[in-house]
Amino acid sequence: AAKDAGRNRLAIYTQALSHAAEQRQRLEQELRQALERQEFLLYYQPQVDNQGQIRVLEALLRWQSPHRGLVAPDVFIPVLEDTGLILEVTRWVLQEACQQILHWQQQGLPWRVSMNLSPRDFQQADLAGSVLDIVQQTPIAPSLLELEITESVLLDASAQVQDSLARFKAAGIPLLLDDFGTGYASLTYLQQFHFDGIKVDRQFVDGLPDSPQSVALVRGIVTMAQHLGLHVVAEGVETAQQALFLRQNGCPILQGYYFDRPRPGNYWSERGNATYPAVC
Ligand code: C2E
Ligand code: MG
Ligand code: MG
Ligand code: MG
Repeated sequence: AAKDAGRNRLAIYTQALSHAAEQRQRLEQELRQALERQEFLLYYQPQVDNQGQIRVLEALLRWQSPHRGLVAPDVFIPVLEDTGLILEVTRWVLQEACQQILHWQQQGLPWRVSMNLSPRDFQQADLAGSVLDIVQQTPIAPSLLELEITESVLLDASAQVQDSLARFKAAGIPLLLDDFGTGYASLTYLQQFHFDGIKVDRQFVDGLPDSPQSVALVRGIVTMAQHLGLHVVAEGVETAQQALFLRQNGCPILQGYYFDRPRPGNYWSERGNATYPAVC
């Protein structure tokens, strides 16, 4: 009987595995179609300065699936990365972001747009070349686009990665290190790779202002960044207390639900230049 039970468990386990594999394959198939059928869209979330003005809007990818509804990137970006489809999606995001910058500029809205690059994008032979081609085809200043890169890109910073980063910098495109503090990058590393700023990860902001550890870490990060001439953006700001703490501790540019959630581009066009309430 014990043997039978073992065999049953194995059968159930095998079944579960092949079920997962099937689901994964279906998702992959749907994502290929999503590209063809143009089911991706961009939401934008503002970075607000201490005057309450929008400085930058971060482009955040969404998938409007006919079966699944509006899907968040955490669900499908890993699959896009595994399959290499991310290269095409990044290209689309970049084109869309450049058109949006142009559109806002024509409306008299002087906003930058930041977009996320995947570590996988850096494996492309001429990432910088293909990015710069698209930017230069749009009549916008390259400095209106910002690129957000995660620390894992720097871990195996090959000559190819370094070359791409240097070319972005030379073209006047600001580079931001995303999710700062969750990986292994040191601040001196950042200068070497020409970064303009860092985005302090939400996990540190979460603990403000009550957790002594979070307070110490954020103060330390901001102080060192200032000495190195790096901009600091805090992400995941959800409360007035967090915003106040950050502003009083040298971090003027804030992003998070406290100000606004990510929303479609035309929402921001209609909202225009209206400011957010000043925090301090
Ligand atoms: P990220 O670049 O760190 O983006 C910030 C994420 O935090 C966004 O999630 C945003 O909606 C969320 N967020 C913003 N403010 C708050 C807040 O106050 N509280 C909380 N709890 N969350 C907040 P989202 O849009 O789901 O994106 C998740 C991640 O997916 C992004 O993290 C980024 O790594 C990736 N991603 C999004 N769009 C793209 C893209 O076009 N290309 C690539 N390669 N990755 C993307
Ligand atoms: Mg980001
Ligand atoms: Mg981030
Ligand atoms: Mg993140």
